[in-house]
Amino acid sequence: MPRMFLSPPHLSGEEFELVREAFDSGWIAPLGPMLEAFERAFAEMSGIRHCLALSSGTAALHLGLRMLGVGPGDVVLASTLTFVGGVAPAAQLGAELAFVDCDRATWTMDPALLEEALETYAREGRVVRAVMPTDLYGHCADYDRLQEICDRRGVSLLVDAAESVGSRYKGRHAGQGARAAAFSFNGNKIITAGGGGLLASDDGALIAEARRLSQQARDPAPHYEHSTLGYNYRLSNVLAAIGLGQLRALPGRVERRREIFDEYREFLGRAPGVTSMPEAEWCRGNRWLSVVLLDREAFGLGPEEARLALEARDIESRPLWKPMHLQPVFRDARVFGGAVSEELFARGLCLPSGTAMTREDVRAVSRVLLEAAGKG
Ligand SMILES: *Cc1c(COP(=O)(O)O)cnc(C)c1O
Repeated sequence: MPRMFLSPPHLSGEEFELVREAFDSGWIAPLGPMLEAFERAFAEMSGIRHCLALSSGTAALHLGLRMLGVGPGDVVLASTLTFVGGVAPAAQLGAELAFVDCDRATWTMDPALLEEALETYAREGRVVRAVMPTDLYGHCADYDRLQEICDRRGVSLLVDAAESVGSRYKGRHAGQGARAAAFSFNGNKIITAGGGGLLASDDGALIAEARRLSQQARDPAPHYEHSTLGYNYRLSNVLAAIGLGQLRALPGRVERRREIFDEYREFLGRAPGVTSMPEAEWCRGNRWLSVVLLDREAFGLGPEEARLALEARDIESRPLWKPMHLQPVFRDARVFGGAVSEELFARGLCLPSGTAMTREDVRAVSRVLLEAAGKG
């Protein structure tokens, strides 16, 4: 039996033909027809008007924050239960990061705590330049509530939608309606371009300027003229071909991830002490990863013991993201709340969720857990 990975790439077969087309066209470069087609296809799929394909989701968040004017002296409020790639750019731009806990119902940014955080900074006379909620494991944050709170204070919402490609919030695609949203096509995400990301916004001027900055910020001139500094952040035309093939397979991938989640619930759900990640009624997430909470007393196995039992069978599983406010690098950062994400981190486990898994694979993973817990 080969090792079972948490979320490996899953190719549809169409990608190779598109990569060959990219080769035949001669555009082996960070520009070209596949890149344009990929951006158009993503805009059509997501309903977000303007899309800029980039070398990573981290680059997309970096450019997004830069477009919002984030810099030294500003505060950026981010979800604490997230991946470091989403928040590092804010610190690298010189802003002060502060973290907001999630709520129990959605595992995403708690609107009441966001309100408290904004109030606190307003009282202190500090400028909060951006609010950056993470769509955790494909579950959308409660955009409408967060947006309304941000609007009252004139703060921009930048959604870290790296994990929620294909997810829906009240029928809209993840990230739609925010000032901007960033997506990731890293190898372990629901679809991949072999690495890559994308910044999307309905604001054409924002994306046009981000596009200029992503290509070393050239001013219009025949020679190289620069009045500001940018980045080399564009996605390769060859990788965009992979992304385009993957995008065509996305609807089926979302269905399969949701099925895998349901299969885990079917095989594990009756065991005492096992609960699955919730889903709000206004969200239809992509279930990027199937996550369970294990109660050691009731189930007979804590998440770390469960992980080791799976590892012994060459099955990869992982703890949830370790909250940012617990990270040594952010030891001095402020946090609003924190107990909910600490508890989720202590009790949660991400199970193999790759879309190439069969129902029998899901059953096999579940059986290892039940046997290790003495419930087999
Ligand atoms: C994957 C991920 C990122 C970073 O995306 P990359 O494409 O790997 O740079 C950022 N935020 C979150 C929440 C992610 O899961």
